Amino acid sequence: MAKPVVPASALFLLFSAAALAQNLPSPESVLGHKPGDDFYLANYDESREYFRKLAAASDRVKIVNVGKTTRGLDWEIAIISSPKNLAQLDKYKDISHRLALGRGLDDATAKALSREGKAIVHIDGGLHSTEVAGAQHSIALAWKLVSTKNDPQIDAILDNVILMLWPTLNPDGQNEVVSWYRKNLGTPYEVSPLPDLYQEYVGHDNNRDGYMNNMLESRDVTRTELEWDPVIFYCQHQTAPFPARIFIPPFVEPISSNIHPLMARWLNVLGMNMAAYLDGHDMPGAIHRTGFDNWYPGFLDFTHIFRNSISFFTETALYRYATPHFYTVDEFPKDRAGLRSEVFYSSPWKGGWWRLADAVHYMEGASMSVLDTAARYHEELLFNRYQAARDNISRFQKEPPYAYIIPREQHDGPEAAALVEKLMTNGIEVHVATQPFAASGRQYKDAWVVLMDQPFSPLVKELFEAQRYPEIRDGSNGPPIRPYDVAGWTLPLQMGVETAVVTQPVTPAQRQTLRLLAKSESIPGTVQGTGSVYLLSRQTNQSFAALNAALDAGAQASVGADQFILSGLARERMAQLAAKQSVTLQAADKSTGNPVTTKKPRVGLYRSWNAAIDEGWTRWILENYGFSPTGLRNGDVQSGHLLERFDTILIPDAMPRAIADGFAPGTVPGEFAGGLGETGITALRAFVHGGGTLIAFNNASLFAIEALNLPVTNVVGGLKPEEFFCSGSLLHVELSEEPHIALGGMQHDAAVMFERGPAFDRKPGFQGAVLATYPKDINPLASGYLLHPEKIQGKAAALEVFEGRGRVYLFGFKPQWRGQSHGTYKLIFNAIYDSPALAKPTMAEKKTEAPKPGSTPEKPAAVKSATTDN
Ligand SMILES: [Zn+2]
Repeated sequence: MAKPVVPASALFLLFSAAALAQNLPSPESVLGHKPGDDFYLANYDESREYFRKLAAASDRVKIVNVGKTTRGLDWEIAIISSPKNLAQLDKYKDISHRLALGRGLDDATAKALSREGKAIVHIDGGLHSTEVAGAQHSIALAWKLVSTKNDPQIDAILDNVILMLWPTLNPDGQNEVVSWYRKNLGTPYEVSPLPDLYQEYVGHDNNRDGYMNNMLESRDVTRTELEWDPVIFYCQHQTAPFPARIFIPPFVEPISSNIHPLMARWLNVLGMNMAAYLDGHDMPGAIHRTGFDNWYPGFLDFTHIFRNSISFFTETALYRYATPHFYTVDEFPKDRAGLRSEVFYSSPWKGGWWRLADAVHYMEGASMSVLDTAARYHEELLFNRYQAARDNISRFQKEPPYAYIIPREQHDGPEAAALVEKLMTNGIEVHVATQPFAASGRQYKDAWVVLMDQPFSPLVKELFEAQRYPEIRDGSNGPPIRPYDVAGWTLPLQMGVETAVVTQPVTPAQRQTLRLLAKSESIPGTVQGTGSVYLLSRQTNQSFAALNAALDAGAQASVGADQFILSGLARERMAQLAAKQSVTLQAADKSTGNPVTTKKPRVGLYRSWNAAIDEGWTRWILENYGFSPTGLRNGDVQSGHLLERFDTILIPDAMPRAIADGFAPGTVPGEFAGGLGETGITALRAFVHGGGTLIAFNNASLFAIEALNLPVTNVVGGLKPEEFFCSGSLLHVELSEEPHIALGGMQHDAAVMFERGPAFDRKPGFQGAVLATYPKDINPLASGYLLHPEKIQGKAAALEVFEGRGRVYLFGFKPQWRGQSHGTYKLIFNAIYDSPALAKPTMAEKKTEAPKPGSTPEKPAAVKSATTDN
């Protein structure tokens, strides 16, 4: 009998498909280990290699590049679904996108699309790289989904869900942590803490950049989410509140009222299904409703909920790295030692070994339950997403705020453009008024207009309104429940940008005058007028970037009361500079007043091995504005002669003991132990006494007060949380009426980010200046939560203290908080430029010299108020 004729290519396909099924690479075959093996962690490079091999061998996986990391790695994620779905990814992305935006659809069409669509689900291996199990779980989860055949649950997931699996949300950090662990494995420092920020600049704050998107990684995540429109965003964290094995939703109070209720409800459904799934698969110890709330929108794993994507995280138990640990019930807190079942902790964990494999297994279970729920309810989830968009659009056509206006005329114009850019990065539609836009009795020319009848408007409301943290008490007489993280963040206020609320419906005629912005626009920089000197307003943050760039290019510069004066560069070069930095340079024949010649300050930035996130943020901001700071390790400070190398030294926020003592000896390898110590403190003292400028942020102020024995007290020092509490809120301050170099370009009223910091009183013998004061007669709270405001009313928020020939700036708040408080950046930049070592006073301006020890200056050493003829 003749053989049936089968085309060679078809034969090849049959053959290769069969081969593929048999030759799927297991993690063990590629990595030499199972994910979760004791003492083993795969790094990002190895994980990426594994995912590539898996994708090459399986028709259930596609690799997608989502961008670069800060340290330059290629960032890849895995799209996992049935081969049929993967072949139609564009179609399913399009359906998700149409439902997410909700525009041009009626309910019936949306229903049909929901039925046709697939649930796109984001799951990741976490962004906190010392929480190591997450990135290992991604490998295990991919292997399970790709290698399991003929399993109804997994088949249903593959058919109905398109999984975006991010092996990690922090590739750089995964590599760094694994390399640290490998180096110390088997030594006394096996479980020692990492002496660095595992994500460049931000470390743990990589999860506090959700709406700001300052970091490359955050932008990669936000852009990709906006491209794929997942209905669920689920992020893995560690560690659970002991002795629970995993924290899962529902969260504790409070919750933001700007979250669409369907998202909040589904978040709880996912949590409850997860608990049942874990208990159903022999994973006891899940706990709900403890510790974490749903208040602050800045978490990168949470911001998306304001865009109607159900976003949440879980916290699985962690010992340290891949080292196992044995727990006995004796170690449990008293109220849990009885192993009593609770409503939200129904299967108490009984103790025993806890291994990396257990954490990986729990995470895999939690992820499987999310996929299972998404597979079962994919149609509802897609339709709910449409409903949320539809509701947001119709709600703000019927009730205020109808729109927000960002006027073009601003104290600091480029910051308004920066705010617009932030909104657009977040997928918010922004219009420009081509005709004067009337609202609340004013005409706004050229203004940016944010119409609120758009699908993701809850995010705008969340960012623009003042926060009022609810007073929730533990029982009727209990103390108020305090925020888990920050309580107030109102973005325009932080950025120093004026906005206006539109409280009347936007008319069709008004709408016709609006032009939708396709991409954000920067303020054009220009040179105006004629002359050989160039005046640069001190009002804008960008002016400092321009000043630093000009000095780098060889310009001469001096500091006047309202302006910087630049000279020594050709006009063409000045024009390039103005364009690049979005500033206006006003050419003139000469400057008047009594400007003080300056040069580029040499900035030292203290960098502890006990890595401070605030150091990273400060470094990032200073680099962005061209200050080129030099990192100072303990040894760099201790070796002294600081004045020969630096004009200004900054100490970012950290507790005084952390700065002075660092890591305790024996807890980390020797070279990382210890802090500044007595030698470092002596060197800093000599620096200031000799004429240097020391700047301390937040609790580092207490270190400076102690180290230099400054006549300043902290009025909230020693108060219990129930006597005074403010964990991150915006407070009004009044700036000094006296002209002062540090206040140059600032408006009289400012909002500062107060985050568990000090407030100051002056002691006898104080010499210097009070720069900012919390108002005496009104509650300083502008946005957030402030318990017992009277404790700080009338007290100083920022001081300049004269000491020897130098000075110390004490900021009792965070003028550079998380790269958001643009409105107070100038306080830092001015202070950096306020160094006697820098300033060469002109004949008329002897007052810029610091006072001699013992003298009592009547005025702060400052650039006196001067006027120019421009
Ligand atoms: Zn975490």
